[in-house]
Amino acid sequence: MEYWHYMLCGMQTWETAFTQGVTLRLKSGFPLLNTELYKYKFVDIPLCPCGQAEESIHHLLIDCPHYTEARDRMVSKIECGYHNTQTAPYFYCINTKVLLGACTNLNSKMGSIVTEAVSSFLRDIPR
Ligand SMILES: [Zn+2]
Repeated sequence: MEYWHYMLCGMQTWETAFTQGVTLRLKSGFPLLNTELYKYKFVDIPLCPCGQAEESIHHLLIDCPHYTEARDRMVSKIECGYHNTQTAPYFYCINTKVLLGACTNLNSKMGSIVTEAVSSFLRDIPR
């Protein structure tokens, strides 16, 4: 950790950025990931504990082999949601944008289903 580097560069900026990041994360229920911790020098490498990639939001939600079972449950809830809300098959999509609630093609009921599915995924994974 290079604390003094940040002191020299302006503690206020570093502290504000980090605090805002943590606050946003806690609000959204997302854990702090190694790519972010690495940015602030709290970890030495940005890799995911699986060792296959940087631990980014995309990797956590979509790719990481450590969370396959929890991800399968999340995907299955969302697929059921698409079916039950009669979402047009054209919009059936599960990607980072959808999972983070940034997809504007889904109605509010489907948005709630996605939020719930992602929240339970985050509760299920050991982070
Ligand atoms: Zn991983």
